[in-house]
Amino acid sequence: MQDAPSPGKPPGQPLGSGRCLCGAVRFATSAAPLWQVHCHCESCRRNCAAPFTSFFGIADGAWRWTGAAPAEYASSPGVTRLFCATCGTPMAYRSTAFPAEMHFYAATLDDPAPYAPTGHVHWADHLSWVHLADSLPRR
Ligand SMILES: [Zn+2]
Ligand SMILES: [Zn+2]
Repeated sequence: MQDAPSPGKPPGQPLGSGRCLCGAVRFATSAAPLWQVHCHCESCRRNCAAPFTSFFGIADGAWRWTGAAPAEYASSPGVTRLFCATCGTPMAYRSTAFPAEMHFYAATLDDPAPYAPTGHVHWADHLSWVHLADSLPRR
């Protein structure tokens, strides 16, 4: 996520907890997400080694690590990407551009089903072979 995810849609329901592949790093959330979007930027694509990523923001104070603390990588000025030092799973994103929130990846949720994305961001960067049939706004 490089730019503002531009909230504005109802936050939806709390998404609960999540974990990395090996289970060492775990988190829990206690409030509904601030926003939920798919990101197609190159930075997220490379970090997650996936065509795009689906993530959500949680206000500080409404999330906590419940397992091992994740390792950190400064991917660009002001941006920290957090991951499991054991299995390598990307766990979160933090940026000085969003000083009061942590961004988590929907695919790490213990139950990803309730995740409800409201749009696509950085659509201009999307891979030409990614074809999505949803009618969510693209920007
Ligand atoms: Zn991104
Ligand atoms: Zn792990």
